[in-house]
Amino acid sequence: MPLYQNQKLKVYNSLTGKKEDFKPLNEGHVGMYVCGPTVYSNVHLGNCRTFMSFDMIFRYLKHLGYKVRYVRNITDAGHLENDAEDGEDKIAKKARLEQLEPMEVVQRYTLDFHSILEKFNFLPPSIEPTATGHIIEQIEIIKNILEKGYAYEINGSVYFDVEKFNETNDYGKLSGRKLEDMIANTRELTAQDEKKNPQDFALWKKAESQHIMRWPSPWGDGFPGWHLECTAMSTKYLGETFDIHGGGMDLKFPHHECEIAQAEASNGHAPVKYWLHANMLTLNGKKMAKSTGNNILPNEMFSGENTILSKPYAPAVVRFFMMQAHYTSILDLSDEALSASEKGYNKLMDALNSLDKLPTAATSNFDVEAWKQKGYDAMNDDFNTPMLTANLFEGVKHINLIKEGRETISKADKDLLKEAMQVFVFEILGLENQDSISQNSDKLSNVIGLLIQLRNEARANKDFSTSDKIRDQLAEMGIQLKDGKEGTTFSLS
Ligand SMILES: [Zn+2]
Repeated sequence: MPLYQNQKLKVYNSLTGKKEDFKPLNEGHVGMYVCGPTVYSNVHLGNCRTFMSFDMIFRYLKHLGYKVRYVRNITDAGHLENDAEDGEDKIAKKARLEQLEPMEVVQRYTLDFHSILEKFNFLPPSIEPTATGHIIEQIEIIKNILEKGYAYEINGSVYFDVEKFNETNDYGKLSGRKLEDMIANTRELTAQDEKKNPQDFALWKKAESQHIMRWPSPWGDGFPGWHLECTAMSTKYLGETFDIHGGGMDLKFPHHECEIAQAEASNGHAPVKYWLHANMLTLNGKKMAKSTGNNILPNEMFSGENTILSKPYAPAVVRFFMMQAHYTSILDLSDEALSASEKGYNKLMDALNSLDKLPTAATSNFDVEAWKQKGYDAMNDDFNTPMLTANLFEGVKHINLIKEGRETISKADKDLLKEAMQVFVFEILGLENQDSISQNSDKLSNVIGLLIQLRNEARANKDFSTSDKIRDQLAEMGIQLKDGKEGTTFSLS
């Protein structure tokens, strides 16, 4: 009997604003679509958090015994600057600035995306479709929406008629907006605007002569609208109605709202049963943004090559840090928080590594079965990973008490404990037992800290041959010391 029959999962549905019993459309099968990255730059750490939340959800659904088809796309065309209707295509712009073929940009950043996700120990999705590979499907949906009267063509572009749609449907139901308010709060259309209403969005945009990413269509050469890509790819691989649609909170409006409108206009019914939204990651209490410098790339965290953190953090530690927050909560990343997660991670791995040698007795005074169910209860409550990790540390506490001889465990319970720990830690949270840096990272940092202190003392005593020797020999070992206003930090090259 599959686990999902005993473990009753509830998920928070953004569409209804309620935690609901999870009942997939087809028993035993789950279709899940998550909006993937627009591959025009290195993957943002905040996006990594979103994708990691859905990786954990994918892992848990699989663990429960569902056959999951997980589709996460690659946006390689049609996503315009500032998510605006008249901006430049993000990939075309990057290609123009760097004098590359747009598909070179796509290839470079798709590879970067995959390599970072691999370091974070993500499972690959079942299908990873690209927007440019589904132009024909997008044109077919546009034709269908035009036929149903919910779109209009003007000067080689096709726009979705939001007002017409709202007469029979509810535009704004996902984000909790009302069309009247949106109309009241938007500026008037300017003379060069060709849309009927400011709320209308492009399904197909005419390509001006200088636009390099273009495809033929019944309305002339052009390119698809960003919102439409996800509707085309999710419908193709998961059907007109599927179970879970996920993405970052920032995509709720307009992107996901538009996906609902397109699907309802073309198929006459709602596309998704459960809408799940992951919350954002801040850095030192502020929004992450390249423009303000309050930003860090995943590889910069792993190597320590940055000015924000005091030392390198292993991908498994960063993953553990992210898993210690609920996916719907805002999470703030800081040196202190990462350092605390690293200690926790090491404590957890130490306990796991000591399980085999744990002494057994005739009886247990630790109820492993109840503890294990508490772990499942946490996950069944809308994937509550912070509650799960708290329960894992409860397990660690018992392991340490047994080690000290203050509690006992039977052989059968010990086997059960080991199996459950491994399921929660490796299979569901997706952590890895990374010996190389993280396990010893604390010790390594302390040793380097000691060397930095000795070097400072040597410098204070004007013993420069010793201070240079420390710096140079560390550099030879691939450890770079950096002297800054805040003192000396290090990075691993
Ligand atoms: Zn999308």
